[in-house]
Amino acid sequence: MTSPTTLPTSERLTQIARASLDRCGVDVDALGGEVTNRSPINGESVFSVAYGDETTVKLAVERAQDAFKQWRVVPAPVRGALVKRFGELLVEHKDDIATFISLEVGKITSEARGEVQEMIDICDFAVGLSRQIGGSTMPSERPGHRLMETWHPLGVVGVISAFNFPAAVWSWNTAIALVCGDPVIWKPSELTPMTSAACAALLDRAVRDVEAPRYVSQLVIGAQEVGQVLVDDPGVALVSATGSTRMGNLVGPRVAERFGRSLLELGGNNAAVVTGSADLDLTMRGIVFSAAGTAGQRCTTMRRVIAHRSIVDDLSERLAGAYSRLPIGDPMADGTLVGPMVHQQAYEKMTRAIDSAKEAGGSLIVGGGRRLADAAPNAYYAEPAIVRIDEQAPIVREETFAPLLYVLPYDDLDEAIALQNDVPQGLSASIFTQDQAEAERFLSSEGADCGIVNVNIGTSGAEIGGAFGGEKHTGGGRESGSDAWRAYMRRATNTVNYSGELPLAQGVDFTV
Ligand code: NAD
Repeated sequence: MTSPTTLPTSERLTQIARASLDRCGVDVDALGGEVTNRSPINGESVFSVAYGDETTVKLAVERAQDAFKQWRVVPAPVRGALVKRFGELLVEHKDDIATFISLEVGKITSEARGEVQEMIDICDFAVGLSRQIGGSTMPSERPGHRLMETWHPLGVVGVISAFNFPAAVWSWNTAIALVCGDPVIWKPSELTPMTSAACAALLDRAVRDVEAPRYVSQLVIGAQEVGQVLVDDPGVALVSATGSTRMGNLVGPRVAERFGRSLLELGGNNAAVVTGSADLDLTMRGIVFSAAGTAGQRCTTMRRVIAHRSIVDDLSERLAGAYSRLPIGDPMADGTLVGPMVHQQAYEKMTRAIDSAKEAGGSLIVGGGRRLADAAPNAYYAEPAIVRIDEQAPIVREETFAPLLYVLPYDDLDEAIALQNDVPQGLSASIFTQDQAEAERFLSSEGADCGIVNVNIGTSGAEIGGAFGGEKHTGGGRESGSDAWRAYMRRATNTVNYSGELPLAQGVDFTV
């Protein structure tokens, strides 16, 4: 398949954006402002937006606190009706939201639509959850007593999101927070204001349709300073922040200092271990999607392959062949599999990382070049790259947010697991093997130390039903499915005495 060689003009992209903004019901005049929003597709300005400031955030928190007082007493299944309506609107506007994701992040259409599908899925999940949130009852040691746990809305949730999942991550938080009884204030990435404005407009419409309190959902577009105000405001009970480990390092301690709650979803350095028994065809396809898909800009992107020495050359050759056939170009064009990197700095980080890996003894097997620079000098289309390296050098232990894959050889599984775990991050890991014992070792408590651990699929592309998140420098947070909802609620342990006596626990005698 040949790579597309032309790119749409800014006029064309602005036209597409305006039509979709209109369809989603965004007040374009209110959104417009001084700050230029560039599309990675051609590197040029598509729209200019207004930023909020400290006053905007403070007002949003006040309004959200008022909304909390109303929303927390609405029964959870009735709160679910809001999320249900939002999900319906997402189905109706799937292509509009996907368009913004392609325009602002550079995702190929199929992946952009997949991101919106994930939003629809989490709405379904949250609606079901709204009838299931429940606590446990335990046997009390005292006769005539009932011991139980009840769950209550927590308060205002501040969501700070990263550029690469500009809509889904917010929806994971918001759909769950809303059924849990919490209003949400969203500070999206400065790179994706239109996507957030469109999503927020759809949720506003759902709020009106079901007559929910006006301020259960608010959007504040702005730079990281706006995020900091949200982080420091004691009126925000939970800060759910997705982004780099650098950001999490700043946000986590600040929220802790005021005894707030934080949910951190930070960087990953995800690896696949490929054993000697692996089906190399399936493995190759799994790796290419996880490592080169989304132009290497997923938190779960595969950044390392740790391959058994008996197959490492064969696998590297197959990967190099597949990489050289990847169609790179306009993400909205049919057939493209790799779109642009988000901006110049991202591309430069990739080239610097390749240089560092070479200095550490690595050799570039394929890729690393730049495409379409003549057609769009300010857009950065990188050829996904593979570096073969024998040691886990310092650069390999860092997250380079780019389509750059390191291939390392290993001799025995213990060594492979140790290499997988010997990085600061702990988001996602995979093993490709046809040997069940190897798979079970990898999944066991002496196996991979990540929050997501897979067998015979890549490190990316999680479903919403499981809890999503990672350990170590990935921040320890869990979002989305399973029991991740607990982070958005306050737990109370209740003891009810219906005995007419007052026995004390642990046999304590305090008779007066
Ligand atoms: P980033 O850290 O630059 O920014 C993320 C968000 O944090 C933005 O909204 C930004 O404005 C805000 N921010 C930055 N500094 C802040 C501060 N001091 N206080 C408050 N807010 C602040 O990240 P990015 O470049 O947008 O996204 C890429 C990174 O996000 C990668 O490291 C990737 O692995 C990570 N990520 C993680 C997950 C996950 O679930 N683990 C998901 C997506 C992305």
